[in-house]
Amino acid sequence: AKVIGKNKFQIYSSFTNLNTNNKIFSLERDLKEAIKTNQFLVYFQPRVDTKTGKIVSAEALIRWAHPDWGLITPKEFIPLAEENGSIIEIEDWVLKQICHYIKEWEQSGTPPVPISLNKSPKVILRNDWTTNILSVLKETNIAPSLLEFEITETALLQTNEIVKRAFDLLQEVGIRVALDDFGTGYSSLTHLKEYPISTIKIDKSFVQNISNHRDNIIIKSIISLAKGLEIRVVAEGVETIEQLTFLKQQMCDEVQGYWFSKPLPKAEFEKLLKKGNT
Ligand code: C2E
Ligand code: MG
Ligand code: MG
Ligand code: MG
Repeated sequence: AKVIGKNKFQIYSSFTNLNTNNKIFSLERDLKEAIKTNQFLVYFQPRVDTKTGKIVSAEALIRWAHPDWGLITPKEFIPLAEENGSIIEIEDWVLKQICHYIKEWEQSGTPPVPISLNKSPKVILRNDWTTNILSVLKETNIAPSLLEFEITETALLQTNEIVKRAFDLLQEVGIRVALDDFGTGYSSLTHLKEYPISTIKIDKSFVQNISNHRDNIIIKSIISLAKGLEIRVVAEGVETIEQLTFLKQQMCDEVQGYWFSKPLPKAEFEKLLKKGNT
């Protein structure tokens, strides 16, 4: 029985490997086409103020509605897009969408909240990435304070002059920069010292282990560090009332996570926004 079981497993596993390889191959091939044929969607996950319980912001999270594979998460295709360079076009598309949505909300009487967009480290290491941001901002004429960019620190090994200049420029214009997945990178504290950072997002790996003494202490320290530096602090991946209660006690400014809401399609997010504002 053991031998049959093992064989069965082997057949199954080689089949899924084949399937996975097919999928990656297909995604890589289809990526460029996907932009032209509008297969991407932006979902929104609310960020909630711990004091008021109101939605004060939201994170834009991209999805790919692939004609054969269905809805694909960014974890699956962002690395491929970074590899073949299409990440630049994808992020330009996300930014354009967001600016137009904000405009639409303003015009339809749904007061918009600031939206944060994720930036690939591959993109922010390029010289010219802020040029397009400034031109989209000008074109759509939305308030810069309604935009925030989230940067994961994992790929920012040391202080980089290009990144520094870009962040300084964004700050001058009034666009905020957040450090995403805070605590999981190599030199978080240096980044806080060198770059104009407005927001820290505590990584969900700490939040989800809040009952662990060490994670607990780390969260408290990050919050206190942020307060001292007058940086807004957001906890990611908040799923339970226990986590929420702890974060409230520690005066964490905002929470984001399944406890309040999963990332939502635009129409559903708009309903929440309208409800929250009446
Ligand atoms: P992230 O920026 O750290 O985004 C948070 C991720 O955590 C999202 O995954 C979100 O759905 C998930 N999440 C939120 N609340 C909870 C929770 O309570 N529990 C758990 N377990 N997970 C939660 P998602 O949407 O799959 O995005 C994954 C990553 O893909 C993002 O991580 C971000 O790094 C990247 N990404 C998404 N959109 C873009 C984009 O437009 N450009 C770039 N470069 N990267 C993007
Ligand atoms: Mg993020
Ligand atoms: Mg994150
Ligand atoms: Mg993350």
